[in-house]
Amino acid sequence: MNISFIGAGSMAEAMISGIIEKKIVAGNEITVLNRSNGHRITQLQEKYGIKKLTSLSELEKHTDVIILAVKPKDILTALQSIQSYIQQGQLLVSVAAGISLSFIESQLHNDVPIVRAMPNTSAMIGKSATAIAFNQSVSDAHQKMALKLFSAIGLTKVVEENQLDAVTGLSGSGPAYIYYIAEALEQAANEIGLEEQIAKQLVIQTLIGAAEMLKHSGEAPENLRKAVTSPGGTTEAGIKVLEQHSVKEAFIDCVKAATKQSAVLA
Ligand code: NAD
Repeated sequence: MNISFIGAGSMAEAMISGIIEKKIVAGNEITVLNRSNGHRITQLQEKYGIKKLTSLSELEKHTDVIILAVKPKDILTALQSIQSYIQQGQLLVSVAAGISLSFIESQLHNDVPIVRAMPNTSAMIGKSATAIAFNQSVSDAHQKMALKLFSAIGLTKVVEENQLDAVTGLSGSGPAYIYYIAEALEQAANEIGLEEQIAKQLVIQTLIGAAEMLKHSGEAPENLRKAVTSPGGTTEAGIKVLEQHSVKEAFIDCVKAATKQSAVLA
């Protein structure tokens, strides 16, 4: 399988790194085109052994999957530049946030199989929570291929396209919500007199440990929380304050606001 990337920024690199590490294809089966910064391709060549896409016409003969990894504002130009080179059977993948399947279809000739994906920034370490949606032309074989590609950067779920705004509000923006919690805990640690470096590591490990417990215990978060909250104990005293401040409701409103904004930007 040969894969071509149009755009070689951080998302493209996350995918290239994961795809090679998981041995989905070798570095020399990946070609990359980047508009700005010629040095970027050299950097990726040295790091991953990928090849430079020297001309868009190469897409016609040597590519099974074309991955559009440009910013949403650049997607139209990118689509216009590749539209005459896409061949029957090739799969087009877009990771551009907010760019609909119908918009992409409208810029291409009929029946191009298209996958639209919403990864998150944890793709950089192979831990993305990604959702993907397909257009009508995507075959079972293409679906399997897309799942394989995105599994290289983390967990991947298939959804209907109309759920991608909700996915954006939940897991797309999700890492920032967790960083926000980490920020608050670090600030609290400072105020209660803990040494900064120690507090930082305790916060990170607490987040990792809680996430791993959620993943491996199979228990609902509410049950895990109740199991560590003894009557009259420290956790109960802390949670009581979160409830007084309606923190759960604030998170619910936060995800709803991000979902709404995703629809506005689309
Ligand atoms: P980036 O700016 O780091 O990289 C994009 C690259 O594409 C740039 O190097 C630019 O020069 C190049 N480019 C632009 N137009 C081009 C063209 N016509 N032909 C060839 N190259 C072109 O962006 P990124 O952070 O990698 O994001 C890429 C896409 O991934 C975006 O659409 C974004 O919505 C999506 N995404 C990114 C993340 C993330 O964590 N970075 C998460 C979710 C979704």
